[in-house]
Amino acid sequence: MKNVLIAGGGLAGLVSACLLSKRGIAVTLIERKTYPFHRVCGEYISNETLSFLHHNNLLPDLTLPRINRLQLTSVNGKSAIFPLDLGGFGISRYTFDHFLYKEALAAGAHVLQNTEVEDISYDDDGFTVKTLNQDYRADVVLGAFGKRSRLDLKLDRSFIKSRSPYAAVKYHIKTIHPPDLIALHNFKNGYCGISAVDGEKQTLCYLTHRHNLKHHGNLRAMEQAVLFSNPFLKTIFQNAEFLYAKPEVINEISFAKKTPVTQHILMAGDAAGMITPLCGNGMAMALHAAKIASDLITEFCESRINRAHLENEYARKWNTLFARRLWAGRQIQKLFGAEWTSNLAVGLVKHVKPVAGWLVKQTHGVPF
Ligand SMILES: Cc1cc2nc3c(=O)[nH]c(=O)nc-3n(C[C@H](O)[C@H](O)[C@H](O)COP(=O)(O)OP(=O)(O)OC[C@H]3O[C@@H](n4cnc5c(N)ncnc54)[C@H](O)[C@@H]3O)c2cc1C
Repeated sequence: MKNVLIAGGGLAGLVSACLLSKRGIAVTLIERKTYPFHRVCGEYISNETLSFLHHNNLLPDLTLPRINRLQLTSVNGKSAIFPLDLGGFGISRYTFDHFLYKEALAAGAHVLQNTEVEDISYDDDGFTVKTLNQDYRADVVLGAFGKRSRLDLKLDRSFIKSRSPYAAVKYHIKTIHPPDLIALHNFKNGYCGISAVDGEKQTLCYLTHRHNLKHHGNLRAMEQAVLFSNPFLKTIFQNAEFLYAKPEVINEISFAKKTPVTQHILMAGDAAGMITPLCGNGMAMALHAAKIASDLITEFCESRINRAHLENEYARKWNTLFARRLWAGRQIQKLFGAEWTSNLAVGLVKHVKPVAGWLVKQTHGVPF
């Protein structure tokens, strides 16, 4: 029987580990960190994932906030609220990833935590995967190591050679916020989302151009000088209880094009391509990619398809499902973060009702 190694244990990696292990396939998943841990993420998941998650018992038995309205505010505080046709739900990655980790173990996956994959090479119809302490052999490798990893350098992926100007910050807060509403508040050179998650708290997560940070020196000064110019953000920051001493922060977030198959490795989730966060669809895409990758890997492990078919069919399906969404996300992001374009976007969705639904549809998929 062929075996599978998964590099990276976020949503794409963990869900693939669950699906493949439940089908009796030998899976080793290697994750750099130790569960449970917090991640920078807005923590809003599109409902297009719901039937898949329920069907595979991949949602924890918790009461989760159902979100079906979106508020958009412009840099200077103009606001529009509209319904989200499909909607979504909120769950913290701390809770969700930890639950999936335990599901993967229960399904029989071998999970190595606190271990970094240092290199992956393809030879002799299989892979050698190097960690600090041990080398592993695998018939299939799924690259699920997220938006940016040292592995991208090792694999000589072209996007990693250019610097990216975006940084992101995430807090968990307690404030008065309608649980059915996700708000996207613009500020100069960035935007900030807020929505409810499990545990009667909210996730406050923003993306900013690094110029903002460089100019103001530290997060606190930047938030006061830049984010507070949007009155909605000022109110939230001044009245919320911030739950942890320090926020989660990441840098160098790139939305550049990547490839779904690199050196025979199937890439899933952000490792294959990252959609701009304002779309709120990255997690749905990671879950959907895990599904299509796992189905094809299963066929390969059962010797029903060969490697060329596995790689070509995965790339074809991935491009059909996601390439246009990624492009649309990059275009829509251009409307945000500047005063006049964010005013234009808010004005458009407020006065031309179908525009809002159309914009959301461009970046979302259908239930799978
Ligand atoms: C600011 C921001 C807000 C967002 N908000 C939302 C939102 O509200 N809704 C939404 O759907 N999406 C959102 N996203 C996108 C979403 O977070 C990602 O699309 C999703 O997490 C992708 O999952 P993944 O499994 O591909 O990667 P990740 O969840 O990032 O997991 C990758 C894992 O690989 C591990 N890893 C990396 N390198 C190695 C290595 N060499 N060896 C071993 N392990 C390794 C990492 O430690 C990590 O655990 C947001 C993203 C950002 C930046």
